[in-house]
Amino acid sequence: MTLLKQIPKVDKFIKNKIFENYSSKLITKITKEKINKLREDILSNKINKIEEEKLTNNIIKEYKNIIKPSLQKVINATGIIVHTNLGRSLITKKSFDKVKDIVSSYNNLEYDLKEGKRGERYSHIVKTLQNLTGCEDALVVNNNASAVFLILNTFAKNKEVIVSRGELVEIGGSFRVPEVMSQSGAILKEIGTTNKTHKKDYENAINENTSILMKVHKSNYSIEGFTSEVELEDIIKIAKEKSVIDYYDMGSGHIIDLPYNLDKKEPSILKIMQYNPSLISFSGDKLLGSVQAGVILGKKELIDQIKKNQLLRMLRVDKITLSLLQEHLNSYLKGQLEDIPTLQMLYTTIETLEQRAKYIKQNLENICNCEIIETSSLIGGGTTPNRKIPTIALSIEYKDFKPNKIEELLRKNNIIARIENEKVLLDFRSIKDSEVDEIIAIIKKVFK
Ligand SMILES: *Cc1c(COP(=O)(O)O)cnc(C)c1O
Repeated sequence: MTLLKQIPKVDKFIKNKIFENYSSKLITKITKEKINKLREDILSNKINKIEEEKLTNNIIKEYKNIIKPSLQKVINATGIIVHTNLGRSLITKKSFDKVKDIVSSYNNLEYDLKEGKRGERYSHIVKTLQNLTGCEDALVVNNNASAVFLILNTFAKNKEVIVSRGELVEIGGSFRVPEVMSQSGAILKEIGTTNKTHKKDYENAINENTSILMKVHKSNYSIEGFTSEVELEDIIKIAKEKSVIDYYDMGSGHIIDLPYNLDKKEPSILKIMQYNPSLISFSGDKLLGSVQAGVILGKKELIDQIKKNQLLRMLRVDKITLSLLQEHLNSYLKGQLEDIPTLQMLYTTIETLEQRAKYIKQNLENICNCEIIETSSLIGGGTTPNRKIPTIALSIEYKDFKPNKIEELLRKNNIIARIENEKVLLDFRSIKDSEVDEIIAIIKKVFK
């Protein structure tokens, strides 16, 4: 058991100059663990010599592994622009730079500089939203799921909310309209059938305990064939006649028109505001292209009531959210849509996508087999259900590697591709121009 005697002592071992620039606390913790493991391995005859240099290297490797941020950059080559698993909408470095000074200093988040007294955090964004959408008042919370919950809880606790059966959707598994509703204390009153709901269904369902006529964007599915649903405009009219609240959970909120005729079925926020709704809410990071947030627009009287709900305190947004959201909304006001990557990607022409694909293909000529493919992709994030938009992709083949293998190799190097018809595709719809050279470098490294 001479080997056991050779095991280094922790306090002596960590004095090694090589650890000088590392946190001694963390190095000590890792060293203890590694030395314990070493002892176990000796006792179980797994090793027959102690290599101190290897031990040192392992400790540093583990150290670096621990302090490495777990959230890391990936290249989204799935073609899905609003990809919830990959962080939804992107924020440009320019936008970050603009808010940098505010968030790295104290600021007037809840302070009225004119009056020298306490201010309101939501006030900053209201004027911007009024100018942009013509709304009477506005409120911003953590995300759209919070907005839905907060609205239902404020106005419909123990009261009825009328929703069409065709709109009782589940979004991404963790947001189911009926469950959100019961958690909020609202009583769900389903009307119509899965494929058909008529005006009279709403009218007949209203009683003295009705609080809200709610419309929910279908987000990730569509019903085709023998269908009819009541337009938001009509729901708003019925609600006004019967003195109840109309509320539209719009899901992904887009301010400007969408390309490829997508907005035929998807009216923009501006269009919806023309109907003079009581309340609408939408996500900040879907087609709006900003940060995670839930934006509520509507009548001042109703927004004031929401503000009195204690829940708002739990769902409130931070200065980072507010300043970035305002920055993006200002980009809309100024017509600088190039600062909103989500829209940029949506509007990039097929010709531009093709140029990028060709450039990569040329640069990988001697590395792997690439073919330019015209196909289509979903926008994602529950934005425009079942509607695909044209795109250009590059298929990647390498030796006799199976598609799954290629996809895995790319993924482990932070390129997320998709497999379609047994081919690994890099879809340019969601790839930034600045990532084109990175892709070439990564593929050259992976398939050398
Ligand atoms: C996406 C979506 C939500 C949830 O919004 P988050 O911002 O992700 O919380 C709620 N309702 C609808 C209809 C949606 O599409």
